[in-house]
Amino acid sequence: MQEMKTALVTGAGRGIAKNLAESGFYVIVNYNGSRENAENVVNEIISSGGRAKALQCNVSDTDAVAKMTDDIKSEFGTIDVLVNNAGIVKDNLIVRMTEKDFDDVISTNLKGTFNTIKYVSKAMIKQRHGRIVNISSVVGIVGNAGQANYAASKAGIIGLTKSAAKELAGRNITVNAVAPGFITTEMTDKLSDDVKEQMMAAIPLKRFGTTKDIADAVAFLVSDNASYITGQVIEVNGGMNM
Ligand code: NAP
Repeated sequence: MQEMKTALVTGAGRGIAKNLAESGFYVIVNYNGSRENAENVVNEIISSGGRAKALQCNVSDTDAVAKMTDDIKSEFGTIDVLVNNAGIVKDNLIVRMTEKDFDDVISTNLKGTFNTIKYVSKAMIKQRHGRIVNISSVVGIVGNAGQANYAASKAGIIGLTKSAAKELAGRNITVNAVAPGFITTEMTDKLSDDVKEQMMAAIPLKRFGTTKDIADAVAFLVSDNASYITGQVIEVNGGMNM
């Protein structure tokens, strides 16, 4: 069994995974369907001298998350950091939103986060240390027309974060959320120029965020410098909500 500090990042968060690898973690890059994308992240980390591997698991599948956690524990011994980054959108107005689109988004974003916390925290409780960061969204705080399912999942993540923080604090495990604003990624590239212009008008710092902005907040929360911070929501949004 290898003994090294490990970080599990769900949904193959490229910026987050690379930053954690630079901080010295062996990064387990989780993905569901996009194997090639996860392997690209792993290869980028390895070619810059870091350590990482890709691991398939659908985070909304409870049994699969239990198995993934057991596999990581038997290979590495510990899971020091968990970053819940996996997320999907299925946007529509409430009157047009199907039950399936509501359930799918809640299942991946909220239940997926619950599942990983449930199993990974068991390992962290035994270790008596751990850092958990859940990726929420500004939309979970202020709401957004056309994103009721997504906003509910991201608001739910905030309640889950605070509850887990209270349950796990006695075991030296911190649980925080990062709530990004508008970040330039594949998820937001698809939006029309009109929507992008409207968003920009609402951002006091007058630029869209980068994956590095989010990764830096995550890296801080898992570092020793943040050991007295738990149950918080760090908003990384250029001042979109204050
Ligand atoms: P993205 O490019 O779509 O990445 C999301 C990842 O989640 C995908 O790689 C997807 O991989 C994975 N995923 C989806 N369902 C999964 C499942 N059931 N199990 C495991 N992995 C799964 O989105 P992003 O923009 O990087 O977003 C990352 C996180 O930030 C999300 O939680 C998102 O809600 C949040 N966020 C983003 C923004 C933004 O402006 N971009 C703003 C606020 C919050 P597979 O294809 O392998 O399923």
